[in-house]
This record gives sequence, C-alpha cells and structure tokens, in this order.
Amino acid sequence: MDCIFCKIAAGQIPCQKLYEDEQILAFRDIQPQAPAHLLIIPKAHIEGAKDLTPEHAPLVGHIFAAIAQLARQEGLDAGFRVVINSGQEGGQTVGHLHFHLLGGRQLGWPPG
Ligand code: 5GP
Ligand code: ZN
Repeated sequence: MDCIFCKIAAGQIPCQKLYEDEQILAFRDIQPQAPAHLLIIPKAHIEGAKDLTPEHAPLVGHIFAAIAQLARQEGLDAGFRVVINSGQEGGQTVGHLHFHLLGGRQLGWPPG
C-alpha cells in the first residue's frame, strides 16, 4: 500500500520516534507548526476520523492516554492542543488517521 504513515509504522521510512507499542506510534512532525508538534498514529491503516466506529474505542482511548503521557514528557504543563484534520475541507493531507499534539507556544483560536 502506498501510504507514507504505514511505511513509517513499518520502519520503511525513518522518523523521530518518541513512543511505540504494538498498536500505536508517536513521532515528531517533519514540518513542525509549534515548538512541540508530535503525530500519534495507529499502526493499522485507518483512513481518517470518518472511519472510526465504537469498535475503535479502546484504540482511541489508548491513543489519548499516550498523548497525556507525551504531553507531560514534552513539558507542556502550560497546555497543549490535540487536532485531527479530516477530509479535504478539514485540511487532511495524509490519508492515515493521525492525531496532532501541538504545544510550546500560545495557540490561536479559531483555526484558519
Ligand atoms: P494533516 O495535514 O494530514 O493533518 O497532517 C499530516 C502531517 O504529516 C503534516 O503536519 C506533515 O508535516 C506531516 N508529515 C507528512 N509527511 C511526513 C513524513 O514523512 N514524516 C513526518 N515525520 N511527518 C510527515
Ligand atoms: Zn496507512
């Protein structure tokens, strides 16, 4: 499959890995939009948030527990943001579900 995040999960494309287990992987975004910009992905290929079902609840819960741990590790005590871009109008550019963890500066709202 021609999916860049599947290739990263399989170790075929290098990344700055911060956490990995059987289900998920966390690594630094190649084009950071904040001092801390991490991507957390399921290793299994799920195209996007639109494909999530109740069966994914344990996976999504596991991802958020990892995000809380990573935010602590990155020293984001002043706050952080978790973002899923979904589909074209949502600004999704990689068709493999990923959670952005952003922090380390004051983030604006609403998004552009
Ligand atoms: P999206 O725009 O789909 O929400 O987010 C995709 C993110 O993946 C972007 O922030 C982009 O910088 C990042 N990205 C794209 N290709 C690579 C890559 O090969 N390695 C890493 N570490 N990040 C990538
Ligand atoms: Zn994939």
